[in-house]
Amino acid sequence: MTRCLDCGSERTTDQCPSCGLTTAAAEVMFRQRLMRQTGVFLLGSLAFPYISQIHPPLDLDWILVFFGIAFFLALTLAIFLERRARNHQEIEILKRVYSGFVPLPWILAATLFVNGRLDSPKNVVYYPTAVVGRFNMRGIVKGSRRLVVRSWRGEQKVERLAVDMDDFDRFHEGDLIVVGVEPGALGIAWYYGVYRR
Ligand SMILES: [Zn+2]
Repeated sequence: MTRCLDCGSERTTDQCPSCGLTTAAAEVMFRQRLMRQTGVFLLGSLAFPYISQIHPPLDLDWILVFFGIAFFLALTLAIFLERRARNHQEIEILKRVYSGFVPLPWILAATLFVNGRLDSPKNVVYYPTAVVGRFNMRGIVKGSRRLVVRSWRGEQKVERLAVDMDDFDRFHEGDLIVVGVEPGALGIAWYYGVYRR
C-alpha cells in the first residue's frame, strides 16, 4: 500500500482518489510545502536570537542550548523527509512531527517577548552582586555579550547576563553592581538592568 505524498490518503492507482494528484505531481507539491515550511522555520531561527534579547531571561543560555538542539533535529528531519519522499517511502508520521517543529522558534520568541512585555517595572527586584567575568562571542547573527556575576540564587554560582553593548563596555571584573530582575508575566525571570553600587 502506498500513500499520496501530498494529502496522505491511501492509493492503489497512480492518481490519488482524494486530491486527484498523480504520484509525480504529489511529489512536487510535497517538496514545495517542505521548502515553504523550512523557510518559515529558518526565518524564525534567525529572528529568535534577536527577539530573545529584548527582555532576556536569566537562563537565556540554557534556552539557546535547547533551541540549538531543536534546530539541529528539525533540519535533520527535513533532510530525512526529503530523502524518504524521493524514495517513495512512508512519511506521514515524520511529516506531522516536522510540522510541529516549524512554528517552534516563533512560539519561543513570542513567549519570551510577551513574558517581558507584559511585566510591570513595579515588579523589579534588585540584587547586590559583583562582576566576576565578561564574555564576548562574535556570532554570525549577533554577537552574544555576557556579564558574568555572582549569583543570588542558591542553586548556582554565577548568572550570565545578556547585556547590551553599552553595559558590556561599562562594567569590568570586580565592579560592585546591582542587578534588576523581573519575575516575568509568564514566570520566566528576566534581566531588567544593571547599575553601579
Ligand atoms: Zn492525495
